[in-house]
Amino acid sequence: MDLLKQKIIDEGQVLEGDILKIDSFLNHQIDPEMSYAMGREFVNIFSDVKVDKVLTIEASGIAIGLVTAYEFGVKMVFARKTKSLLLNDDSYTADAYSYTKQVTNHITVLKKFLTAGENILIVDDFLANGSAALALCSIAEQAGCKVVGIGIAVEKAFQDGEEKLKAAGYRVEPLARIKSLKGGRVTFVED
Ligand code: 5GP
Repeated sequence: MDLLKQKIIDEGQVLEGDILKIDSFLNHQIDPEMSYAMGREFVNIFSDVKVDKVLTIEASGIAIGLVTAYEFGVKMVFARKTKSLLLNDDSYTADAYSYTKQVTNHITVLKKFLTAGENILIVDDFLANGSAALALCSIAEQAGCKVVGIGIAVEKAFQDGEEKLKAAGYRVEPLARIKSLKGGRVTFVED
């Protein structure tokens, strides 16, 4: 997606440890126009499958998950990372190791928001080692749902997330694929 790639080049900052910071439009401040453009792109890419619900993870997945769900005309559910008194035994859980925060999050979705047989599109801002996406797949499958695809805004293709997800049989569709962040410079995988 050229618009996204250009915005990454114009506004992205490369941090220690192969982290890309794009908090001016995706991860802190949100650019609604850019977000809706990404949502529409996911609708185009996944136009061949039926999507009943979008599943993402707080916090950075929510904006992109919401616009994608809006464009599909379906509801969006986000997995929570923090314990809440509102969450109880009536929830599905899975562990996701956070690459940026270096902690394992016990992520949770209330059972009442996923119904067996639903076709789920998983959406997230970044794909690195695949832990967040695999945990979301596990939650969807615990509920008896089918994961019809995984839409990612930015894939760091030099990490092994996509490989793991594809090996597990999932369809992965990134809007921008980063080949390298070496020397503080962003280079993309050629389309
Ligand atoms: P994974 O679970 O695939 O290892 O990492 C994906 C999650 O980690 C995403 O939900 C995202 O929030 C975070 N993440 C991984 N790499 C980056 C990065 O380079 N920049 C930012 N902003 N978030 C990242």
